[in-house]
Amino acid sequence: MRPADPTLAATLDRAPTAATAPRFIGSEVYRGSSYGGLHPLRIPRVPTVIDLIRAMFWLAPGQYVSSPRAKPAALAAWHTPGYIAALQQAERDGEVSPEVRARHNLGTASNPVYPEVFRRPATAAGGSILAGQLLRDGGVIHSPGGGTHHGMPDRANGFCYLNDPVLAILSLRAAGVHRVAYVDIDAHHPDGVEHAFARDEEVLMISVHEERRWPFTGALEEAGAGSVFNLPVPRAFNDTEMRTVLETLILPRIDAFRPEAIVLQCGSDAVEEDPLSRLSLSNNAHWEVVAALRPLSPRYLVLGGGGYNPWSVGRLWAGNWAVLNGLKIPERLPEAAEAVLRGIAWRGNSRGRNPPDHWFTTLRDVPREGAVREEVRDRLARLAAR
Ligand SMILES: [Zn+2]
Repeated sequence: MRPADPTLAATLDRAPTAATAPRFIGSEVYRGSSYGGLHPLRIPRVPTVIDLIRAMFWLAPGQYVSSPRAKPAALAAWHTPGYIAALQQAERDGEVSPEVRARHNLGTASNPVYPEVFRRPATAAGGSILAGQLLRDGGVIHSPGGGTHHGMPDRANGFCYLNDPVLAILSLRAAGVHRVAYVDIDAHHPDGVEHAFARDEEVLMISVHEERRWPFTGALEEAGAGSVFNLPVPRAFNDTEMRTVLETLILPRIDAFRPEAIVLQCGSDAVEEDPLSRLSLSNNAHWEVVAALRPLSPRYLVLGGGGYNPWSVGRLWAGNWAVLNGLKIPERLPEAAEAVLRGIAWRGNSRGRNPPDHWFTTLRDVPREGAVREEVRDRLARLAAR
């Protein structure tokens, strides 16, 4: 199969109409919200994306949808009522008891109690549930606040309090959309999503994640009921290797599965500049995946996920929006967009002290092509043989 061309959508012979134009689900709840202290999620992410795409005039009237906050009853489609109540109580009290901490993994270093600890994840979840409803009749949605793929039914896990990708898939199902392909290119394995759907043959799950990294699940051999494909990849995983994975694993499996909807978790922590992984992708690799999956299903939801370098995250997800809309990403950003990137501070990380100029002036990274290593080829062959 041919490598996907991220500019493919630009060659469409007609402009998207209001009815078919992609929609962007966002919220102001993320602005100023921080997990606090030196937590990796102290940084701005969704607000940067919103500000960048507004500065680029990339939002047409009607494309922006403000995310509702999911009600406890809607969250209970997958989460336990006791856990939802504990999360609401944690927000009210600003702290949790030792019992709640032990039972629900709340108030820990990874999953701290912060001022919006219920509202923020419930808004991301509300966006994913709404996306499932909006996609009933088809369409494309980017919801960068979603992608919290580690959340578990009864506890917080890996910075994720709720699991909005699971809720998105359940929402699609409630809207009558049953065959869903879930693709996850975050640096970390989506243990929460796998927990939900590993035994479900109507969900195809493909995850590409760094080997020997938290949460240490997602081994090559893990297959669930047969529709789970886990590809752990080695350090320094490059753009050429990702293209090979796209062509030999992701696209053929989706083709064969014939999904009614695709959900892509497009975490941005697998790029070279991310502080929490050792992978070496450029954002071009993500955009190729985003573009390549679009024609394979009538419904397409692109979520965010991890991403702990504030410049990498904002540039990558703003670029996702451009790709989904067939918009040309300029070589050099206009002044207003550059000002958004220059306004970011990344305290407590040495990379934030003297950021390279291209983090301010461009969206597109320099591609990081390289050799396709033997272990990557070997693992792909083993998955292909299944
Ligand atoms: Zn991650």
